[in-house]
Amino acid sequence: MIVKPFAPSPLTLGLQALVARLPSTHSQYLKLQKELKNKEAGDFGEQYIMNELQKLQQLSDCHIFHNVMLPAILPMQIDILIITPSGIIILEIKNIRGTVHFKSDPRQLIRSTETGEVHTFTHPEIQLEQYMQATKHFLDAHDITMPIYGAIVFPFNNVDIHREGEGLPIIMGKELPLYIHKLKSQKLYFATNDIAHIILSQLRHTNPFPLCQYYHIESSVLQKGVYCENCGQFGMQKLKATWFCQKCEHQCKEAHVSALRDFYMLVGNTMTNRECRDFLKIESPHVTKRILQKLTRSGLGKHTKYNLASLNGNR
Ligand SMILES: [Zn+2]
Repeated sequence: MIVKPFAPSPLTLGLQALVARLPSTHSQYLKLQKELKNKEAGDFGEQYIMNELQKLQQLSDCHIFHNVMLPAILPMQIDILIITPSGIIILEIKNIRGTVHFKSDPRQLIRSTETGEVHTFTHPEIQLEQYMQATKHFLDAHDITMPIYGAIVFPFNNVDIHREGEGLPIIMGKELPLYIHKLKSQKLYFATNDIAHIILSQLRHTNPFPLCQYYHIESSVLQKGVYCENCGQFGMQKLKATWFCQKCEHQCKEAHVSALRDFYMLVGNTMTNRECRDFLKIESPHVTKRILQKLTRSGLGKHTKYNLASLNGNR
């Protein structure tokens, strides 16, 4: 059973907005575009594995969570956590293509691509061990003792893996059913429902917003205006009851919502009426007031700040 379904990571969504609104001549543009590609590939791998797990009959008595952060002594951001009657399984998903070498002393992951590009990553085992320790600490604090297993999963067969020495299991996506089957055949019977409730009630959510601050980018360089989802251009015009794209004639009543969400992810979690007029490219303060009035606010008159966090589903 999926308890916490797949959702794109906040950083991916924020980078999508940032790359769309950053001029391609900006000094950080290429770096951020590359970072976005890596994040999207990571999310894609996690989504694929979540879909595969959902199909597994043997997991019908298990609880599956995507992207788990719990209060613990060490930082954690678990890609996938599965509570089974035999123990907890933590999966670290690595959607990396090319040739990868797991080096053991010191522990590093080195990837080379067909074009000869070499890139060094944090060894996933280091992250995974940390998450397993953090999970143990969390369970101890709730008087729960059960085995914790961890595996590094490569979702697709687009990678050639070389490993030095022993360590935590590295498995391919197709091997997951067998890996889980072996663990579950130990015939232990922990109360999975109770543990799932505790984990669900203690989940933490963080995000790196606003990204302009995170990446030290002046928010004034961002492309302003409302984005047309149909043709991908900025500059939709506000008509009386809708937004209108002059380039493709697409109309959308709620087109401003994604622009406000972009402002939240990139610039800040509150917005004044003046900032709204500037960012959405609207002249009339009465029109922006109507747009903003659904949001909670603080302050008075022109100092009124509208809270944008609710637009983002508290991610
Ligand atoms: Zn358009």
